[in-house]
Amino acid sequence: MSDVVLLGQPTVGEEEIEAIREVFASGWLAGAGPACKRFEEKFAAVAGVPHVVATSNCGSALHLAMLTLGAGPGDEVIVGDYTFPATGHSVMYNGSKPVFADVRPDSWTIDPASVEALITPRTKGIIAVDVAGQPADYAELRKIADKHGLFLVEDAACAAGATYQGRPAGSLADVAVFSFHGRKGITAGEGGAFVTANAEIAAHARKLHTYGIAPAVDRAASTTLPIPEFDELGYNYRLSDIQAAIMSVQVDRLPALLAARTHAANRYQELLGDFDLLELPVALADRTHPWQAYIVTLNHGIDRGEVAMRLRERGVQCNFGTYASHVQPLYGQTSPCPVSADVFARHLAIPMHANLTDAEVETVAAAVREVVTAVAKG
Ligand SMILES: *Cc1c(COP(=O)(O)O)cnc(C)c1O
Repeated sequence: MSDVVLLGQPTVGEEEIEAIREVFASGWLAGAGPACKRFEEKFAAVAGVPHVVATSNCGSALHLAMLTLGAGPGDEVIVGDYTFPATGHSVMYNGSKPVFADVRPDSWTIDPASVEALITPRTKGIIAVDVAGQPADYAELRKIADKHGLFLVEDAACAAGATYQGRPAGSLADVAVFSFHGRKGITAGEGGAFVTANAEIAAHARKLHTYGIAPAVDRAASTTLPIPEFDELGYNYRLSDIQAAIMSVQVDRLPALLAARTHAANRYQELLGDFDLLELPVALADRTHPWQAYIVTLNHGIDRGEVAMRLRERGVQCNFGTYASHVQPLYGQTSPCPVSADVFARHLAIPMHANLTDAEVETVAAAVREVVTAVAKG
């Protein structure tokens, strides 16, 4: 046990090692093989959709979403502003322009009202982000998308196991994408998934994720010698079978991991709910929050850099929340997103992972209380 309370930590162990051993013994280590097939079937139940394509990461799954939904040069895609910039980047990979929409002040997910205001004749679709895993407002977003003939994508990078009005994250838009990066709720170090209820879109994504031909595993059973033909530019966006085997174990762990994170979030609420120098994150009533991160909002005027430095000195890791995209120079956006800019300046992520002990949560809460009080006094 280290004295430092970690901001995040994966939960992996003997079961994952055993799964890797089995992949080594099978001889199929490459991507899109039998272990990927098994993982895709398992993850379909988590995401609540029939079609899953395991991918190298969430950014590649987002790129596949833009390709299969037909966003190209000259098109605009409206994106929730408060997110890791993979979301905005993915729109640019195929020559479209991301237009960032401001977010709700409570959940930091895309504000449906700000989406409507940004729609132009060039708008092709919307990417909503489930911030820290909490789903966005898909009922309202669906209405807007249908009214204007737009596609709707769910960036569910952090949202495995979350729900919205009783439906699982992954089933809330035309396409959803997940990340299995080491900082997410379930992980293989790196990894991702492209999921959809649409068989045609799924088949297209599968083809594009393996250089534009059918995966080798689909040819391996043939008794003849099928020779694929390349008729479309694809990529190598495969998840390796080693990673897929890890992910199958992680899916088995998911209920326990979610329960542990929820327990920690509830303890933070009990310990810090009455502390008036910051606001705690809000879990909206009609959705379940998977707590990929636990982000508090410091009151205006409190020096966040000073708070972070003093918490780290006390062995409590912390960080800013995620990014306001519209201020990133890459995107060249001139229109403001005031809510996103404000939380980008005031957010502080404190330790949240499934291995946190009650004692650690208590240590963090006490440190936050003391440090923020001292910094606020100046
Ligand atoms: C982590 C994250 C991504 C990127 O995921 P990778 O697997 O690293 O490509 C995209 N969107 C959001 C909202 C994320 O949090």
